[in-house]
Amino acid sequence: MRPLIWIPREVHPDAVAELETWADVHRGWGEAASAEVEIAPLAQGVLLRTARMDAAQLARMPRLRIVARHGVGTDTVDTAFARERGIRVTTTPHANVLSVAEHTIALLMAVRRGIGAAAAGRADRDALIGGELSGSTLGLIGYGRIARHVARIARGGFGMHVLAFDPAVPDDDIRADGSEPHALDDLLAGADAVSVHVPLLPTTRGLLGAAQFRLMRPHAVVVNTSRGGVVDEEALVAALDAGQVGGAGLDVSDVEPMPVDHPLRNRPDVVVTPHIGGQTREAMRRVAMEAAASLRAELAR
Ligand code: NAD
Repeated sequence: MRPLIWIPREVHPDAVAELETWADVHRGWGEAASAEVEIAPLAQGVLLRTARMDAAQLARMPRLRIVARHGVGTDTVDTAFARERGIRVTTTPHANVLSVAEHTIALLMAVRRGIGAAAAGRADRDALIGGELSGSTLGLIGYGRIARHVARIARGGFGMHVLAFDPAVPDDDIRADGSEPHALDDLLAGADAVSVHVPLLPTTRGLLGAAQFRLMRPHAVVVNTSRGGVVDEEALVAALDAGQVGGAGLDVSDVEPMPVDHPLRNRPDVVVTPHIGGQTREAMRRVAMEAAASLRAELAR
C-alpha cells in the first residue's frame, strides 16, 4: 500500500511531484487542498514547512513515522514527544548553505559600501566613501557548513585573509581548509569584519556583546546570518553609537521581523534583512527535495 503523506503548507512543486511517484500526497493549499482534521490522523509522513507539531498534534497522528522538516530548526516540533513515540524528525542542513553564505557576503558588501544608506535615498557621495573587501581580514565565529563556504568566497573572490574560531573544529582542519585558527579575542581584535555562524544555544547567546565589541576595530563590520540572540542587540547599538564598531549587517534578530521602530533600523551603518538568507529559488527547491528524500528513505521500503 502506498504511504500517505501530509504537506500542510506549500513547498516546491518538484518535491510534491517526486513524492507523488510513490506515495499518496495530501496538501493543505490550493484547489486540491485536503481538510487537515481528516487527513492528518491517517498520515505516515509529514513534510513540515512552517506549521507547528506540538505533542497534542503528534498525539492525533497515531500512524505517523516521520516528520521531515523543511529547513534546519526543529523548534516547531516537540522532538522529545516524537522520540517517545518512535517518530523520526529529520532536517535539511545542507540545502541552503550556498544561499546563506552568499547572503552573508551580500550583507558585508552592502555595509562596507553604504549600499543600505544609498538605497534609502542618501545621495551625498562624500558621505558614502566605503572600503574594499580585497585584502582585508574576515573573522568567522563558528566554522561549520555555512562559514566554510563564506570563507571560500571571501578567499577566492576577494583575496581576503580568513580567521576562524570554533572550539569543535581542530586547528589542523581549519588550516587544511585554507583559513587560520584563532582564539576568539585575537580574532575580534584582528578582523575588519566579523561574521557569526553558530547555532543559538545557551553557550552562544550573547556571544558577541559589549566586551567583544570593545575588542574590535572601530571600522569593523559585524554580520549575523545565524540566529537572533547570538549578537546582543542592545550592546551592538551602544557599540555603534560609541564608534567601537563600524557597521552591521543583520539577517536575524531577537524578534522577527525586527520591529519597525527598533533602534538598529533606519541607521546608515546597519543593513537589516528579514531572515531571507536561505530564501532563494534554488535553495527552496533543494530544501524541499532533501525533505522528500528523507520521507522516501523512511517510508518507501
Ligand atoms: P553547522 O552546524 O554546520 O556549524 C555550526 C558551527 O558552530 C559548528 O562547527 C560548531 O562547532 C560551532 N559552534 C558552536 N558553538 C560555538 C561557539 N560557542 N563558538 C564558536 N563556534 C561554535 O551550522 P551551519 O549549517 O553552518 O549554520 C550556522 C547557523 O546559520 C545556524 O545558526 C543556522 O541556524 C543558521 N542558518 C540561518 C539561515 C538564514 O536563513 N539566515 C539559514 C540556514 C541556517
